[in-house]
Amino acid sequence: MIITQKKPLEELLGMLDGAKTVALVGCGSCATACATGGEKEIADLSKVLEQHGMKVVATAMSEYCCMHLKTRTILKPVIAANPDAVVAMSCGDGVQVIAQYCKCPVYPSNNTMFLGESVKLGLFEEACHLCGDCVLGKTGGICPISRCAKSLVNGPCGGSRNGKCEVNPENPCAWIEIYNKLVELGQEYKIGITRDDKGYEKVSYPRTINIRGDKK
Ligand code: SF4
Ligand code: SF4
Repeated sequence: MIITQKKPLEELLGMLDGAKTVALVGCGSCATACATGGEKEIADLSKVLEQHGMKVVATAMSEYCCMHLKTRTILKPVIAANPDAVVAMSCGDGVQVIAQYCKCPVYPSNNTMFLGESVKLGLFEEACHLCGDCVLGKTGGICPISRCAKSLVNGPCGGSRNGKCEVNPENPCAWIEIYNKLVELGQEYKIGITRDDKGYEKVSYPRTINIRGDKK
């Protein structure tokens, strides 16, 4: 899932400077799980904005803000309310989808942090940098790009101490974890294989993937 964090209120209020009427759009998937864009957060932010003299003229919730069809549909009452501004309570992708359908400015209430796992309620860990060339099959299912502070494809770096990362000793060294996992899997021979350096041609932005064939 995409992990988001609320922006400081002052920053959001600064963006909304001058707006008298606002609409809030939440996201029912990742942002709800992160407590940054669910029904409760919409209600809380509505109250705060009203306290700051703005009128909340519409609220809406898309099941997935990143999906155009669903989001376009739920935006109809928002657009009809003709607000001065819309606050998109989603990840940055959702903000961009919403902005494509609104004539007024659309502002993000969240910072989009990373693609990660919900380990337990309220605890999220970074897990994938969307590199476009997944090496998990060679690393025991542990991502060296996102879990190693240096994104080393051939680690460890030599700075690891007592199984911890030299960059942030609070984190385990990803490459020690990879080694231990490969041993557990009976695949320790893979640690000695030299993995190709990452080719960054797969991450030349923006990327588009079309699985629709000739369908428009
Ligand atoms: S190697 Fe890591 S960053 Fe790349 S796709 Fe796989 S999990 Fe994501
Ligand atoms: S100590 Fe381990 S996790 Fe940290 S940078 Fe070096 S190889 Fe990567």
